Amino acid sequence: MNNFSLENKTAYVTGGAKGIGKTVALGLAGNGADVAIVDIDMDAASEVVKEIEAMGRRSMAISCDVTSADDVETMVNRIVSEWGKLDIAFNNAGICLNVPSEDLTYDQWKKVIDINLNGVFLTSQAAGRVMIKQKGGVIINTASMSGHIVNVPQPQSAYNASKAAVIMLTKSLAVEWVNHNVRVNSISPGYIATEMTLSAPEEWKSRWTDLTPAGRMGKPEELISAILYLANDASSYTTGMDLVVDGAFTCI
Ligand code: NAD
Repeated sequence: MNNFSLENKTAYVTGGAKGIGKTVALGLAGNGADVAIVDIDMDAASEVVKEIEAMGRRSMAISCDVTSADDVETMVNRIVSEWGKLDIAFNNAGICLNVPSEDLTYDQWKKVIDINLNGVFLTSQAAGRVMIKQKGGVIINTASMSGHIVNVPQPQSAYNASKAAVIMLTKSLAVEWVNHNVRVNSISPGYIATEMTLSAPEEWKSRWTDLTPAGRMGKPEELISAILYLANDASSYTTGMDLVVDGAFTCI
């Protein structure tokens, strides 16, 4: 029995147009799932859809700002009406702002919290409502090692606070929904080479790799197996867990 197969499963990935979301979406499709790409960047999302369809799986690009409850409800309803069910929700969209806290405006603070935390709540809630009704499903939220440690040298208090909250929100939903056969877990990547990190100044990047026992950033591909484990019955007794994938950054 292949516990990791996702044949006949349907999934969505928020922030699926780029970076970690795109790579994981392709990984889910490569293991048999139909995957909707949910993002605000429709040009990039449409390219990912083409790649998934070329693999012989169903896909669709859905324009959705995760901070809009209406967008999120419409997105989930569309998947259920077109594909009949929602098995896997990967709530991954997120942003980071690097501003010293004494200079951070309240609008900047709210923007980070709105996308990274409120967006994860809204998408988890919409997916959870469907999954409770269908008596099963898996929700995976992207937190970060920044929910466990304070990154240096860059200042990012709103990001760190948002990710710590995602980890606790995940545990709370896991406990509330365990008897509905809905599992809720999070992943906490360390530094992963995507637009978010590669656009940083060289001094920051070399500091990050020096601080990482693995001596390098992770590749987005190195998160696929972690998501596959959480996405299906291989992890049937695992819920409320935060899976850290960080090259041992948080060990020291
Ligand atoms: P990225 O910037 O490469 O991709 C983010 C995607 O999210 C983009 O496609 C963007 O269009 C989309 N997005 C942004 N705001 C949105 C919104 N309001 N609604 C819908 N989609 C939106 O970033 P990434 O590095 O792939 O990060 C993905 C997730 O992983 C984020 O939650 C991030 O915090 C987390 N993370 C990243 C790292 C890292 O080192 N790259 C480490 C830990 C956690």
